[in-house]
Amino acid sequence: MPAAIASQMPVPKREGVPVRNAGGRYAVVVTDHHAARFFLLSQGYLRQVGERSTEVDVSQWKQKDLGHFAAEAIQKTRGPNRDAFAHRIDARYRQICRELAAQLMTLSNGNGQATPVLVGPDRLIRVLQSKLLEPYRKATVLVAKDLGGDSSERIGFELDSILEQHERAQELARVKQLLGARRGAVTGPDEIFARLQKGTIHTLLAANQPDWELHQCVACGLADRSADPVCPACGAERKKVRFWELLPKLVAEHQVKTEIVNGEAARLLLAVGGLGGWLRPRTISSKKKRAPAGRGLAGSRAEGR
Ligand SMILES: [Zn+2]
Repeated sequence: MPAAIASQMPVPKREGVPVRNAGGRYAVVVTDHHAARFFLLSQGYLRQVGERSTEVDVSQWKQKDLGHFAAEAIQKTRGPNRDAFAHRIDARYRQICRELAAQLMTLSNGNGQATPVLVGPDRLIRVLQSKLLEPYRKATVLVAKDLGGDSSERIGFELDSILEQHERAQELARVKQLLGARRGAVTGPDEIFARLQKGTIHTLLAANQPDWELHQCVACGLADRSADPVCPACGAERKKVRFWELLPKLVAEHQVKTEIVNGEAARLLLAVGGLGGWLRPRTISSKKKRAPAGRGLAGSRAEGR
């Protein structure tokens, strides 16, 4: 990520296990039939934030309901007793999954809608996913690996490549969606630079590439790629400026959601100049006209996704 963008982010907590290729924010649960550990992954670091048992305590269950059994001997049990036992175990696991899902959603919600990541045996994480509400369920990353007994370092190592692939796939999908849009989207540096300054871009997609050089007016701040030494708007002097330097101010001023894309997504985007954007819906600008004085575009737009 360009330094100019990184410098705009909150100061990260440099603690935990480094997960260098995951740029997003994740709420992770690593679970098996014994325990569930909760982790937060943000700013490239994974740290454990909680743990709980997921063991089903059968010792409290009434013997008369279930017949004679020992937990280890249940495989040998036949007939209705075994069915009753299995049914009850299953019901208890579903309850545990509901609790885990609630804890995970709370963790995600308390950390900027961190993307849920479920790590564990396939069947278990699928049940767990089914207990999540939208939009958490749809956003979930499933990692069907039994890492219940593994160290944080091992979990970080496993998540690194999986989440990197996940992010690249998400970026590619978003770039394809933008490039395939019949309306509401624009591409190309010149149009993007102009619209960013007018505040009509809602979401910016930028290829992770060195930079674009612009000339900016020292008086009114207008910037574009023309080499004209004089500002076309006010006639003042212009100086060279890099796009990545200019962007944080524009992002802050106009509440632009920015996504830097890599890999195949960047290659596709570079074919149209490396920059694309979604325009603000017209409804926002019409609301602005009716809004009370002093309340601008920024105030009418919700943060995040
Ligand atoms: Zn000017």
